[in-house]
Amino acid sequence: MKMRLTHEFSFEASHRLDHLGPNHPCYPLHGHSYRVTIQVEGEVDPVTGFLIDYAELKRIVQPVITQLDHTHLNDVAGLSLSTTEHIAHWLWQRLKPVLPMLTQIDIRETPATACIYRGE
Ligand SMILES: [Zn+2]
Repeated sequence: MKMRLTHEFSFEASHRLDHLGPNHPCYPLHGHSYRVTIQVEGEVDPVTGFLIDYAELKRIVQPVITQLDHTHLNDVAGLSLSTTEHIAHWLWQRLKPVLPMLTQIDIRETPATACIYRGE
């Protein structure tokens, strides 16, 4: 029995997108309350009845999310260009090796926008 599970995480961070120039709304220093939804997929364990225990998923993912919380993203190694696309890739690079069943990262800066990355 194959299933997909999701778990939502959040972090607060500031950034600025210097390369866009002063007329762009993302140029000045500003912050977001980021929402990150982690999706995993695989076979349900017939003994536990779980694909993965949500507590175990949180134990794996939260330390990586915490590395971004209350930071200025431009100062985080690998995120000098701190778009949601690059944040999704940054998270994938750190999570996939420790969470092989990871199939998708969905990251939102605002309720209206989302970047979805599946490791391609
Ligand atoms: Zn922004």
